[in-house]
Amino acid sequence: MVFSSVLGFPRMGSDRQLKKAVEAYWKGKSTRTELISAADELKIEHWNIMKSAGIDVIPVGDFSLYDHILDAALMFNVIPARFEVEFSAELAKIRRNVKSMDVSQELLDIYFAMARGVKKSKTHESADEPNHGHGHGHEETDGIPSLEMKKWFDTNYHSMVPEISKSTNFMLLQNNVKKDFILAKNNGIITNPHIIGPITFLHYCKLDSAVESASFNKWNSVNKLVELYAELVLELEASGSEWVTIEEPVLATDLNKESKEAFLQAYKTLYSKLLEGRPDIQNDKKIKVMLANYFGSYKENLDLALDLPFEGLHFDLVLGKSDFESAKLSKLNGRVVSLGLIDGRNIWRADTFKIYKFYNDKLSSLLKDSGASQIIINSSCPLLYVPFSTAIEKEHLEENVFNKLAFAVEKVFEINNLKNAINKQDSSSLSLTILENDHQSNSVQKADKLSSNQNSHNTYENDVSSTRLSDFQTRNAVQKKLFDFPNLPTTTIGSFPQTEEIRVTRQKFRKNLITKQEYEEFIKEKIRECIKWQIDLDLDVLVHGEYERTDMVEFFGHFLTGFTTTKNGWVQSYGSRCVKPPIIYGDVKRKSSMTVEITKFAQDYVNEILGLENSRPVKGMLTGPVTIIQWSFVRNDIPISQTAMQIALAIREEVLELESNGITVIQVDEPAIREGLPLRKEEQKEYRKWSVTSFKIATSGVKDSTQIHTHMCYSDFNEILGMIISMDADVLTIENSKSNLKLIEVDHLSSAQAYKAEIGPGLYDVHSPLIPTVNEMKLRAIELLKVYKKESLWINPDCGNKTRTVAEVDAALRNMVAVAKELRKTF
Ligand code: GLN
Ligand code: ZN
Repeated sequence: MVFSSVLGFPRMGSDRQLKKAVEAYWKGKSTRTELISAADELKIEHWNIMKSAGIDVIPVGDFSLYDHILDAALMFNVIPARFEVEFSAELAKIRRNVKSMDVSQELLDIYFAMARGVKKSKTHESADEPNHGHGHGHEETDGIPSLEMKKWFDTNYHSMVPEISKSTNFMLLQNNVKKDFILAKNNGIITNPHIIGPITFLHYCKLDSAVESASFNKWNSVNKLVELYAELVLELEASGSEWVTIEEPVLATDLNKESKEAFLQAYKTLYSKLLEGRPDIQNDKKIKVMLANYFGSYKENLDLALDLPFEGLHFDLVLGKSDFESAKLSKLNGRVVSLGLIDGRNIWRADTFKIYKFYNDKLSSLLKDSGASQIIINSSCPLLYVPFSTAIEKEHLEENVFNKLAFAVEKVFEINNLKNAINKQDSSSLSLTILENDHQSNSVQKADKLSSNQNSHNTYENDVSSTRLSDFQTRNAVQKKLFDFPNLPTTTIGSFPQTEEIRVTRQKFRKNLITKQEYEEFIKEKIRECIKWQIDLDLDVLVHGEYERTDMVEFFGHFLTGFTTTKNGWVQSYGSRCVKPPIIYGDVKRKSSMTVEITKFAQDYVNEILGLENSRPVKGMLTGPVTIIQWSFVRNDIPISQTAMQIALAIREEVLELESNGITVIQVDEPAIREGLPLRKEEQKEYRKWSVTSFKIATSGVKDSTQIHTHMCYSDFNEILGMIISMDADVLTIENSKSNLKLIEVDHLSSAQAYKAEIGPGLYDVHSPLIPTVNEMKLRAIELLKVYKKESLWINPDCGNKTRTVAEVDAALRNMVAVAKELRKTF
């Protein structure tokens, strides 16, 4: 008999109820009690969905009002000094009452302050302008900056980065997991508590820069932290919980010696604490621990897990299938084994019949030979990374696409169907028939059933060159002559403010309140204004402003075959922010030109105003193949690299059409190229290869005189320097807001494999509402000029302007151009 479980469920709700509840609270439109009861209602609804699907082991503790790492930080009293000061009175009161009452309501405002930053007066901020601290950590404002955010492993979810220091006073401030366990129990549902493990938690922590000390290392905290984990787990036991799942996805990465040691130490301490003072406890009375790794295989880290007395182990058999073949599995010694067979990261229906066929026989040997005591069929990872349900998509999606999709709710049923089929071995049983029908009915994504264009893979290798006609030096000489830019040329990253006026007009167009023609005329008028504005600012390379697009991927999806978008396929990105990734379901080809008309319109207008002789280039603005892939759900019936090549060929056509229409500078953005890097070193090589090749396919068809720009939102890119060099763009603009000027280390510059092309490390952070002064930007540029030649350095912001106001953009860019002009006098 096998059981079924889910590692975690999406938090937002079928209609993003959580987003709405949280934002209403931020705007002061609801009370704490209202927010908490809205959240509780959602949790109960989700538990009931799993329960009625037949799931045996239902998770709690996976829910969060903002982020699970932030929950853990506050739970363990990991509060940076700046919030301690601001909330000193509240915190003192909370800490006095911790043992005697539920302080979760009192902690709520501190929690959101850590998430979003807070004005010193502690007034609610507007919901659409979260003050994320990333990037402007040093500037003094009248507000207290939030914790930083960081990408959660290789997903598109962002978690918060707790700050710890020598003086962090670890204590158990609240036990959210226990509260949810009891809430579920009171609603008739017995659940399995989940908590992020201490090593993954510490992995995401950084040292508090205000109190950083040389002798202190974050792993020093592991013992103190683990004592609290023990306290928390024992509280769960006392509430009646028989199992706790501790999630350590950090095991899917290459761990260094230090973190491996910390891991062993942490769990040895945890086990001894769980037994301490209770020597007589019967083994079957003690709460049992399931260790869950996901996002990949344990690989060599499996030893760490097997050396410790965990009573259960979870395997991600979608991304970490190799673990199942590991010889080490023979040492299961009576453990419960959870098999993550249903993909929590992608949206395709599983071929449950095929999975059944593959695993069914092997399960008995897992029980007999390897010593597993019990088997649980599970999702590979929490379902946080997929949308809620496909139900509402039926009306507008093409049938053959709709039939292939499974979001969270559907995945829960897949897990349970699989369990039923395994449990009812009789091959004529209904449960197995369900799986088999699915398999036959063509509704699961299978390579042989999709009309994959076999040629497209070969085309790029045979017919399309992925290298430019000449090397950078030769192109650069041609371009210098043609463009004749001043030294330190100025430009922007592409987008200009998406104002209320633009949003309202787009809404009107979508609701058919204005005609297509009226909408397009409105966009053209915006472009004219933007061009006049940029000429007035005296920028050297102009842009059309990206007013016609709200996002960088979906916009292009409309012009490509094989792409579709959902109505309600929202996935949490961070806090209350959700994204709706497009779905790539078939072969990708360009249906029509995407940006040519609008870019040409902008270029013609500049030519008209300045006269052909004195005109300036308008940059064409495209999104690169890797970013399109990273921010979409992709096919799993062909390798990702093949989809990347198809997209690359489509972008290449667009690039060439822009060029033949007189566009001389073309930017292909790849802000997501770093985040696609696989978690394990040994898997990175292949990614580096196809991602660079796809960018080069997209951009290499142009003449020497056409200047290819690329843009990345990443400041610490020495890790991908080799890739950046191989991409062979003429100009790279990058984020550089952390005043960490060692962007591309000087040694690299002198080495043979040096970055030789032109570069524009952003002179100021567009995510901050502060206006950068001439002086601070000048100092930054002077520092940059110590590293880069004046002939190679560009002056630009570090990302697009779309989230800023017109006044902010105007003031910042005016100062920025002034810096370039001043420096040109001396350099
Ligand atoms: N061209 C895009 C813009 O300016 C780039 C956005 C990004 O890097 N994320 O908005
Ligand atoms: Zn950017």
